[in-house]
Amino acid sequence: MIFKRIFILYFAFFGQFKNHTALGTTKYIFVTGGVTSSLGKGILASSLAKLLQARGYSITIQKLDPYINVDPGTLNPYEHGECFVTEDGAETDLDLGYYERFLNVPTSQANNVTTGKIYQSVINKERRGDYLGKTVQIIPHITDEIKRKIKFLGSKGKFDIVVTEIGGTVGDIESLPYIEAVRQLKWEMGDDVLVVHLTLVPYLAASGELKTKPTQHSVKALLESGVQPDVLVLRTEHDLAMNIRKKVALFCNVDIDSVVQSMDVPTIYEVPLMMLKENLDKTVLRKLGLPLKQEPDLKAWNEFIHKLKNPTSEVEIGLVGKYVELHDAYKSIVESLIHAGAMNECKVKIRWIHSEVVTEENAEETFKGLKGILVAPGFGHRGIEGKIIATRYARENKIPFFGICLGMQIAVIEFARNVIGLKLADSTEMNDKTPYPVIDLMEAQKDITEKGGTMRLGGYDCRIVKDSNIYKAYGKEHFKERHRHRYEFNNDYLNDFEKAGMKAVGHNPDTNLVEVVEIPEHPWFVGVQFHPEYSSTVLNPHPLFVAFIKAALTNN
Ligand code: GLN
Repeated sequence: MIFKRIFILYFAFFGQFKNHTALGTTKYIFVTGGVTSSLGKGILASSLAKLLQARGYSITIQKLDPYINVDPGTLNPYEHGECFVTEDGAETDLDLGYYERFLNVPTSQANNVTTGKIYQSVINKERRGDYLGKTVQIIPHITDEIKRKIKFLGSKGKFDIVVTEIGGTVGDIESLPYIEAVRQLKWEMGDDVLVVHLTLVPYLAASGELKTKPTQHSVKALLESGVQPDVLVLRTEHDLAMNIRKKVALFCNVDIDSVVQSMDVPTIYEVPLMMLKENLDKTVLRKLGLPLKQEPDLKAWNEFIHKLKNPTSEVEIGLVGKYVELHDAYKSIVESLIHAGAMNECKVKIRWIHSEVVTEENAEETFKGLKGILVAPGFGHRGIEGKIIATRYARENKIPFFGICLGMQIAVIEFARNVIGLKLADSTEMNDKTPYPVIDLMEAQKDITEKGGTMRLGGYDCRIVKDSNIYKAYGKEHFKERHRHRYEFNNDYLNDFEKAGMKAVGHNPDTNLVEVVEIPEHPWFVGVQFHPEYSSTVLNPHPLFVAFIKAALTNN
C-alpha cells in the first residue's frame, strides 16, 4: 500500500517532465515568424517537411491562424488571399495549398486551426458543463485546447513528425496564446519539440550592410514568452558571411549550424533544395534525436525543377477575375498553371485581366494574342459582364477556354444569351428575377440562412462521358473533385443547351448535378463546376490544367 502511494506520487511529480512516452514517438516542429509578415513561413514549413519526407519520414503540416473567424470561408479574398478547400470540405488558409503541393499528401479539417475554432470549442465545452465550477481562462483552458489540436494530428499514429506553422508575427497580441502553448509543449516534451524561427536580415543599401538587430529583437520577443528557438532561418537578399552567422548564433543563443540562410530564389519550388544545401534537414533531425535514414529522394522534384527552368516554348494565358490586383486570390490556379507548364515543357505567362474593366469595345485589344483564356471562380455580381465578354471572345475566336466554378456558370450564361438567344438569361445569384435562370440555387441550399461553412464543400464524385475533352485529359470516366459553391446548372434547360451545341459531359451520379460542360464544335472549351486547382501538386500536375496548356500550345 505504502509502496503504491510512493509510486503514484513519484509519477505524479516526475511524470510531468517525462511526458513524451505517453505521447508516443511523434515529434513536433513549430515554425514561427519574426520581424515582418510575408517572409514565407508556409513555404519554409513546406520545404522543411518536404526534405524530411524525402528522407523517409511520414509528415503532415498544420497551420494555426490567430484570427477570430472560425475559418477563412467568410473572408473576402482581398483580406488573406484564396480560400483553400480540403478533400474533406474544410475552408482553409491558402498555406494548406502549399503543404499539399509540396508534400503530395492531402490535408484535412484538422490541419487548419483558428482562434475562432479554439474559442468555439472551449465555449461549447463550458456550456456543456465540462468545466463546471471553474473560471474558464486563456491559461489553461485556451492553451490546453490549442495543445489538444496540435497533438490531435500526432495522436493518429500516422505521422512521425507534425510541423505546425504559427500564423502572424511574434510579438502580436493575438498570437500570444499560441506561443504560450508552444512553451508548454517544449517544457512537457523536451527534445520531441523543436522551434524554427524565421526572420529577416535586411540589407541597408546606403551603408552596404546586412543588419542582424531585427533578428536579435525578434528572438528576444520569443524569449520574453519563454521560448528559445532551436533553429533560425534568416531571409536575406545577400549571402550571409560567416561573421554574421556567428554573431546571430552568439546573440541568439543557438549553435552556428542552426543559423540557416534563406536567399531569394526565382521559384518557391527551389526553396527545399536551398534548405538542403544549408543542411536544415540534418540539423533538425539531429536536434530531434532522429536518424538521417536515407539521402533525400528528390529525383522527381529535381526533374520538375529542371523542366520548369528549361522551357522549350511559351504560351500566354489570360486569367480573368475580379481580384486580379491581389495575385494570392488565385494562388492555386497560378500554381496549377506552373505545374502544367512544366509538364508541357513550356513557360506559362499570365496576362492578368480585371473583369470589371473589360467591355465589348476593348475586348479585341484586351484578349489579342492570348493562347488560352481562363475565367476564374468568384461570388457576387461585380465584374460578371466582363467575364461574359471574355468567354464569348474565347468561344467565337476558338481560343481554348477553361471556366472554373463561377467560370463554368458564366460559360452557361453566355451560351444561353448569345447562342440560344435567351438574352435575359442569368444566374439567380446575380439576378433573382431573371426569366431564364440557367444557373440556379441548389435545392439543398434553399433553406440555408447561415453563411459560414454551408456551401457544397469538398470532394464529390463526377462521372463523365467518354467522347469529351475532359475524358481525354483524365483518361478515366469516374473521379472525385473538390467543390465550393451554392449554385448549379439548371437541368430544366439541358435540352436547349444540348440542341444548340453545349453538352453536359460530367454529372454527379447521386444528384445528377452538372459538373462539366463542353462545346464539341470548339477546339477546347471546358467549364467545370468543381475546383481542379486545389488538387494539382508538383508530383501530380492536374490533368485538366495539363490538357488546357496543351490545347493552348496547339492554338497557333
Ligand atoms: N458563386 C458561385 C456559386 O456559389 C460560384 C462559386 C465559386 O466560383 N467558387 O455557385
